[in-house]
Amino acid sequence: MSTSAGHRARKRFGQNFLHDRNVIDRIVAAIAPGPDDNMVEIGPGLAALTEPLLARLERLQVVEIDRDLAARLRSRYSPERLCVHEADALRFDFASLGARLRVVGNLPYNISTPILFHLAACADNLVDMTFMLQKEVVDRIVAPPGTEAYGRLSVMLQYRFECVKLFSVPPGAFHPVPKVTSAIVRLTPRTELPLAAAAHATFGELVRAAFGQRRKTLRNTLRNWLVDADYQQLGLDSGQRGETLAVADFVALTEIVEGRGRGGQAHGQI
Ligand code: SAM
Repeated sequence: MSTSAGHRARKRFGQNFLHDRNVIDRIVAAIAPGPDDNMVEIGPGLAALTEPLLARLERLQVVEIDRDLAARLRSRYSPERLCVHEADALRFDFASLGARLRVVGNLPYNISTPILFHLAACADNLVDMTFMLQKEVVDRIVAPPGTEAYGRLSVMLQYRFECVKLFSVPPGAFHPVPKVTSAIVRLTPRTELPLAAAAHATFGELVRAAFGQRRKTLRNTLRNWLVDADYQQLGLDSGQRGETLAVADFVALTEIVEGRGRGGQAHGQI
């Protein structure tokens, strides 16, 4: 078992602590905190990012699941400067932290995708999010249509956020050393979404279904919602697979379904 600063890294909490000063400086420079920013860090751990962030902020909030690490942080910083929420970020109500929230973190790899979906639900409250993730996950987030990495995660996040990969971080920057390379991604909420909020559930259902069975064509995966003529109307083909559609195509298909009335069947369906 690996120890860092007297703390035993807990695998179940995805603990790989950053120690490379150069990488830490680059991440903090990319975040570019302003003194008055309303910022929350997920998984502060041993404060590798927390410390330099606090040097630039008047106040920082953190969400840490590990009781021992939360206690360390409380004993090291005053509550006026560092507000420690000892909680599971997956269940934490980020909307309760106020408007114009900036979210940062070196996220535990085992829960990075569910955390992204959890945060996407309160995108209206966010200024931006800057995360360290497994490089493969960042590649999926920013992937363009038609590529192997493009999937449900890419469409759902690219719909709500502008997604930019900033730089890669080698395994040697962490202790214990992980098996994978990491990367930094910045997600900035789009100010205007093409679909009304009421249509978001349908959009999510279509995307989930389209990528549920990757080898199958849209005619198969979306047969409960759309017929051949719907695709033709958009210059698409029902013989295509989900991974060939751009985010804008999923938006256009959602508009067709919504135009028919929610829950309405595609004409020609039995
Ligand atoms: N930020 C530190 C760094 O860069 O060295 C630690 C990063 S470590 C990869 C992930 C951190 O997230 C750990 O401190 C871990 O305890 C915490 N963590 C894991 N699961 C969590 C959860 N569900 N909610 C909040 N924190 C969590």
